[in-house]
Amino acid sequence: MQAKIRVVVTGGGTAGWLTAYSLAKRLGNLLEITLVESDQIGTVGVGEATVPTIHRFHQFYGIDEREFMRATQATFKLGIVFDNWGAPGESYVHTFGEIGQSNWLVEFHQYWLEAQANGFGGNLEDYCLELKAARAGKFAPTVGETRLTYAFHLDATAYARYLRQKSESLGVRRVEGKISEIAVDPVTGNIQSLELEQDRRVAGDFFIDCTGFRSLLLGDALDVEFEDWSHWLAADRALAVQTTSTEPPPPYTRAIAHSSGWQWRIPLQSRTGNGLVYSSRFCSDDDARATLLGNITGQTITEPNFLRFKTGRRKNAWHKNCVAIGLSSGFVEPLESTSIHLIDTAVVRLMKLFPFSGAMEPLAERFNRETRIEWEAVRDFVILHYKQTQRDDSEFWNFYRTMDIPDTLVHRIELFKENGYVWSELANLFRAHSWIQVMFGQGLFPKHCHGASRILPPEALKLELEKISTFVNHNLAKLPDHNEFIKQYCAAQN
Ligand SMILES: Cc1cc2nc3c(=O)[nH]c(=O)nc-3n(C[C@H](O)[C@H](O)[C@H](O)COP(=O)(O)OP(=O)(O)OC[C@H]3O[C@@H](n4cnc5c(N)ncnc54)[C@H](O)[C@@H]3O)c2cc1C
Repeated sequence: MQAKIRVVVTGGGTAGWLTAYSLAKRLGNLLEITLVESDQIGTVGVGEATVPTIHRFHQFYGIDEREFMRATQATFKLGIVFDNWGAPGESYVHTFGEIGQSNWLVEFHQYWLEAQANGFGGNLEDYCLELKAARAGKFAPTVGETRLTYAFHLDATAYARYLRQKSESLGVRRVEGKISEIAVDPVTGNIQSLELEQDRRVAGDFFIDCTGFRSLLLGDALDVEFEDWSHWLAADRALAVQTTSTEPPPPYTRAIAHSSGWQWRIPLQSRTGNGLVYSSRFCSDDDARATLLGNITGQTITEPNFLRFKTGRRKNAWHKNCVAIGLSSGFVEPLESTSIHLIDTAVVRLMKLFPFSGAMEPLAERFNRETRIEWEAVRDFVILHYKQTQRDDSEFWNFYRTMDIPDTLVHRIELFKENGYVWSELANLFRAHSWIQVMFGQGLFPKHCHGASRILPPEALKLELEKISTFVNHNLAKLPDHNEFIKQYCAAQN
């Protein structure tokens, strides 16, 4: 029998433990997995909102929803409520649900636009169950035959702890210690081993860098270039604080725009996570603190925690015998809660391309190509929220409103503006419905719509739309209150 490949995961945050657990669960017979982490350094400790793809990963790795929710104080998330983004005082919801019924030819909003032109059709929100359920504070995974599309809010530290327990039970070896040096083979350029303090050494065949923003292996030791995106996404700091809850947890994240940054509010069963994301170019740390602490509800239960980051990504997340996963591979600010998703997809991609034998370079090349496409789509979607605004009340918003944006996003906005066309890229996390909700939500309306919306005469179109909104309302009435549902389904023991 062939010897097992020695995989060394460095870092024990969400990225490290998710990677270790996934590899152990699916390829454990072929790999010997060691995870090195340092309690002294700790983890970033934030990252509490997710997107619906997390289900697929949990199912794939055999994670039970109720067990995981109890262990992480989790609540359900149907989307994000965006306050003050298009203009101060405005609010819209980006939910994970589908709006109306689309078909192979056109998305539903094209019919709705035609209805609007004929003076009927109501609000686009009337056609989305998840959206109406979010606003009403209601939730169940299914109602009748309909399955809701949802994600979770979770306690990041508890999630890493939960994954650690599961990983260790599958045989992952954990080594506690601070990495002081990384030995690189001068001939091949591959990493050979990690030197830990107190003269300890961990050798391996393949290394996974999950050391967070430090990027100790890929960035420091292998010197892989960082592609800076801060000219499009200027935020470089965040301030996070936890508070007691003052109301039952709503089934959505709140993203509140201020004059020089935006604030998140993430409801867990036991507490609320809050934070302000801002740019040091437009806001001092003192002002950030005053803004955040002036806009929270409940009592603070942690000290405000300042975090610094750089937006962008390592040009090649896989180089030589090392792959970076998590913050070590890059970061796009948390506005659409994409980081845990990007960890999950990176792990699956790595498993599909795992270098069991043969040349490693073509595998790495494929990994890097897919990763680039995926990250650029996420980047563009997040930029849209800033660029598509009417806000002119601060230097911060004037910068974003007038800045140049990537050509890929220019193309997308122009097509939508002219005739409402929207599409999902192959590797794009965000489907057409996401783009539509944010574009409309932030005041971008098309001049024209697709001719298919005129195939039905207006009276028939009206009837079709009424059928859909009646169906949505019918299901909405049957949904239980979100908090009541949590209590009976997955209440955590405090
Ligand atoms: C402000 C903010 C808000 C966020 N919100 C969200 C969100 O809502 N949703 C989402 O999906 N993501 C979010 N993220 C991203 C999310 O937090 C991360 O993707 C996730 O926590 C994974 O982090 P990580 O494991 O890569 O890094 P970390 O948590 O930083 O872990 C790094 C690990 O490396 C170890 N390490 C580092 N140096 C050494 C050394 N020398 N020796 C040994 N060990 C070492 C550390 O001990 C630690 O275990 C947010 C990030 C930020 C900054």
